[in-house]
Amino acid sequence: TPDFTDVLAMFRAAVARSGERAALLYFDGVITYDELDKLSDSLAGYLAAHGFAPGDRLAIFLQNVPQFVVAIIAAWKAGGIAVAVNPMNRMREIAILFADCTPHAVICHDSSYEPVIAALDATLRPALVITTSVLSYQTRNDPRLFGDAQQRQIADTIDFGDAITTGGPVPVTPHYQAGDIAFLVYTSGTTGVPKGAMNTHGNVAFNAQTYRDWIKLAEGAPILGIAPLFHITGLIGHVAAAFITAAPLILTYRFEPGVMLDAIEEHRAEFTIGAITAFIAMMNHPSATRAKLASMTKIYSGGAPIPPSVVVDFRKTFGHYIHNGYGLTETNSPTHVVPLSREAPVDPASGALAIGVPVYNTISWICDDAGNPLPVGEIGEIVTQGPMVVPGYWNKPDKTAESIRNSRFHTGDVGFMDAEGWFYLVDRKKDMINAAGYKVWPREVEDVLYTHPAVREAAVIGVADPYRGETVKAVISLKPGAATTPADIILFCKERMAAYKYPRMVEIIEDLPKTVTGKILRRELRG
Ligand code: ATP
Repeated sequence: TPDFTDVLAMFRAAVARSGERAALLYFDGVITYDELDKLSDSLAGYLAAHGFAPGDRLAIFLQNVPQFVVAIIAAWKAGGIAVAVNPMNRMREIAILFADCTPHAVICHDSSYEPVIAALDATLRPALVITTSVLSYQTRNDPRLFGDAQQRQIADTIDFGDAITTGGPVPVTPHYQAGDIAFLVYTSGTTGVPKGAMNTHGNVAFNAQTYRDWIKLAEGAPILGIAPLFHITGLIGHVAAAFITAAPLILTYRFEPGVMLDAIEEHRAEFTIGAITAFIAMMNHPSATRAKLASMTKIYSGGAPIPPSVVVDFRKTFGHYIHNGYGLTETNSPTHVVPLSREAPVDPASGALAIGVPVYNTISWICDDAGNPLPVGEIGEIVTQGPMVVPGYWNKPDKTAESIRNSRFHTGDVGFMDAEGWFYLVDRKKDMINAAGYKVWPREVEDVLYTHPAVREAAVIGVADPYRGETVKAVISLKPGAATTPADIILFCKERMAAYKYPRMVEIIEDLPKTVTGKILRRELRG
């Protein structure tokens, strides 16, 4: 049974027992749990005084700054829903999200003011816009007219600092039920149409507990924010994980490997979770030393496949093991984890690392296309049922019905289970390459590419081929100072895999395209 089903109550419990301890560390700044409570009271009061009502959405369009966390709690205190929006989105993308979630208020960086206003304008809806500069709260009170003159849509704009100082009567503390929505999180878009997964208080509280109990997070032990807070990994693996353990969360605006290494050393951070590309970048950074990461004994990677050779190299560099954790936005992050005390087994046939075992109260099956469970060792779609599965997508009953049937979530990922109950991910269903009728799973080829000494990052895609339908192409970037040729890479792969799998084409580029969360965008390489 979860300790909490209400994330606001979970936050308040942290304030009650650790009010004077650090909640957020941002470069030289420290915000305690008491201060975070007061700041969010003021913002909630301000929102409520400006018509923000229970059930309303507060869209948060920020990098990893303290204001992000203040805004989340304020949205809940005012009875509303926090909507995390990728701050790299352009006007067109923001407009799509705003049209979908119709926020009552938006909080953004000064620098994103124009696209936010333009996006609101495009949706023809008024909203209160709260701007904030990165490091200081500058005064900016700039009410604007926008939209169709007939409708006289008005967006009031106020500076974050002013909103906090102005405040307003703090709304009556809401108590949430497990089924109430805490966050709308839009799927990160590696596949197209953004869908707002409705993450409930029950989902978030349950997964916070998973982090605490399966990764053995200690009370008050510093957590490093590597993933962006707008992504489910950041919201749960950083913010909710910090609340449940009353821990300080270290924020650094955005991911930069050298800054991360310094922050870990300075604050003695113990735990983080992020995409594998973040760990690859840290490993290849000139200041990478064992001493830098000495305190970081709980390292998890999720959101993208982990090439086994990276785990080996990382351990050589830093002396720490990278644990796997698997989940999706629709499952509020982890459904399968490698417990802290274990190392993931490697599948002898494919060389893949296990993604973990299902966490408690969770059942996972490997299913055929008709949804029937398959036996041990057979490959099929991963289907999961558990307290972390979201009830659906905001405003999208059809999309919800496609992926959640009888409260079982169909992940769109293909994998298998071994005799001991470990799950393995083969790849995403939609990324399969069909080369002359042979199924080629990009991840398996990528794992081999990562074992080449010159390869830093790799992505494998299918490209049209007149004879084979599709042929396998690898796109790679190289480690600093390393040299190789496409012919050398092709030969290297040919010696290590079946003839239908090895890449026939190799392109070497400076940097692979990625989402802000660090996932390599195969879709973009396919063009
Ligand atoms: P979209 O749904 O728009 O395509 P997305 O799928 O990238 O975006 P997320 O919810 O962030 O959105 O990612 C979930 C996906 O990430 C999973 O379906 C899976 O393919 C991949 N993934 C997550 N964890 C792991 C892991 N440990 N190993 C391999 N792949 C993983």
